[in-house]
Amino acid sequence: MFDDKLTLAGTRSARASLAGNGEEAADTLTHSTVMMIDDDPITLEVIQAFLAEAGYRKTVPLSQPAQALQLIRHEQPDVVLLDLLMPGVSGFDILQAMSSDAELRYVPVIMLTAASDAETKLRALELGATDFLAKPVDPSELTLRLRNTLAFKAYRDRLAHYDSLTELPNRRAFIERLRSLLQQETPAPQRMAVLHIDLDRFKEINDTLGYGVGDTLLKAVTERLRAVLRSIEKLHGSGAGGRSVLSRFGGDEFIVLTPDLANSPMPEMLARHVATALAAPIIIGEHDLYVSASIGIAISPDDGVDVITLLKNADVAMHAAKQLGGNGFMFYSSELNIRSLERLTLEHGLRQAVSGAQLRLHYQPQVEIASGRIVGFEALMRWQHPELGLLMPGRFIPIAEAAGLIGELGEWALFEACSQLKAWELAGFRDLVVSVNAAAPQLQQAHFPETIDRALKSAGVLPGNLMLEITESMLISEGDQSVAVLDRVKDMGVGLSLDDFGTGYSSFSHLKRLRIDEIKIDRSFVADMDTSLESTAIVAAILSLATGLGLKVVAEGVETEDQLANLAARSCQNFQGYYFSHPLPADQISGLLALRANRK
Ligand code: C2E
Ligand code: CA
Ligand code: CA
Repeated sequence: MFDDKLTLAGTRSARASLAGNGEEAADTLTHSTVMMIDDDPITLEVIQAFLAEAGYRKTVPLSQPAQALQLIRHEQPDVVLLDLLMPGVSGFDILQAMSSDAELRYVPVIMLTAASDAETKLRALELGATDFLAKPVDPSELTLRLRNTLAFKAYRDRLAHYDSLTELPNRRAFIERLRSLLQQETPAPQRMAVLHIDLDRFKEINDTLGYGVGDTLLKAVTERLRAVLRSIEKLHGSGAGGRSVLSRFGGDEFIVLTPDLANSPMPEMLARHVATALAAPIIIGEHDLYVSASIGIAISPDDGVDVITLLKNADVAMHAAKQLGGNGFMFYSSELNIRSLERLTLEHGLRQAVSGAQLRLHYQPQVEIASGRIVGFEALMRWQHPELGLLMPGRFIPIAEAAGLIGELGEWALFEACSQLKAWELAGFRDLVVSVNAAAPQLQQAHFPETIDRALKSAGVLPGNLMLEITESMLISEGDQSVAVLDRVKDMGVGLSLDDFGTGYSSFSHLKRLRIDEIKIDRSFVADMDTSLESTAIVAAILSLATGLGLKVVAEGVETEDQLANLAARSCQNFQGYYFSHPLPADQISGLLALRANRK
């Protein structure tokens, strides 16, 4: 997946500026390595004197043309001054050999020649010579030609090594830098960290709001990442083994390399700083964009001693972080490698799951606290995998989202939940509401309201008996199309429930703007109510907010009698949780309904 063969010869000047603090290679000239190949030692000496005079500090003279290729490869010069006529191996031979060598092809060559005939020059140009210089060499002519050639080369190196959007070192530059660091053997191999940073749901933003907004967002993210590295450097110094390098790998992928872990802050701290830096919305035009990142961390030498392995493992860890829901980081472990294999297997199987009737819905009752009556159900997806057994959504929903399959799964769930609700209605259980979870990509589909409409009509269920569960994090921005989609869903008469409330931005403007009917208190607060005063206070605050706004409230994850009593004391209307019932297959739900005398 990573191109490891990108060694461009003679990238010393570009590399020098990467190694440092990213400053422009201002004095490319004097840092350039100039190699001279001429069989005449006197010419070499004269040119060398001219170059020294002009400020060039690194010159490599060679009077044995037979060793030319070997030396060019070793010295990686920025430019070669090459005599055309030499005994044995001629300048043409060397040019020819260079032009057919992938590594040497792009080293600029200025031909030194007394010959002024057009044919010779043409042939040299065809073989890739950059320029000509007449012998005997005139000093001002020499410096002028050199300067031009080097300036052009610096420009070309920059194009090849920097990302034009963010002006960060690109993937190729990063790989070169990492490789050269990994090859350093003195004094002992350093411990290094590679952080693979991938923005969550960037594609959605790009698709919904357009490339212009996407590009601006990437630039803003770059600025925040740069600021993180700067502030960390201020706090901890830059580490004896060099500063951290930030690079853009393409798309929404960034990489940070900490070259000297022993003298730098821990990678998890860096990852936390990145998360904090991205937490505040990025404002672009009328959009407040919420971005987060999934970060994978690989450490050398433990997780790899070569470029490919380190980058691959950081990538595997990043995917693991993403699978856990994003907005987090993960260290690489060999176990992850096994999991990433499993991930691929599951993704493959998911494509058959819908058509092969392997998906199931389990239903968890929602109960009115005051009466003890079942008022509805949350439909929760399961995958009856032919080999792995019953899989929980945490294992396959993130994969389905990443693989672009969630739309199909979600549509299936809507149809299935509606037809099940109809079946219960026909069995005499009326006024039940079924809640179906939505996923972010579904809200980006302009036809999503029509899909819901079809599901309702095909089952013959009224819109008021369906509730759609969404989370705040699904909304990319206020001006985003998902808000318009939800508006249309709401206009149809379908209810909207804000899931996991309290864990996201808990923004009141969302509540009003979206015409929410119900909020679900996240189960983490309910679980902590017994022990944490803070959680109890949050639950109380949510309940009074909901009362004020005239919203229904469902407390999630109620497991104990105490929790239920606590909620009842604060006038919470409904609850759902293991205390009453686990999510169950539909046939077991019918029994439960009969038992609770829900039949009217
Ligand atoms: P969620 O929407 O927050 O669903 C509630 C989760 O809490 C369910 O996990 C449920 O089994 C679990 N739960 C219920 N009562 C208790 C309790 O008392 N204690 C504890 N500890 N947990 C309880 P489940 O079924 O594994 O689903 C996990 C998540 O997967 C859901 O979280 C939802 O985000 C997602 N999901 C499930 N079905 C679908 C679906 O059809 N479409 C989409 N897009 N996502 C789904
Ligand atoms: Ca839910
Ligand atoms: Ca929830």
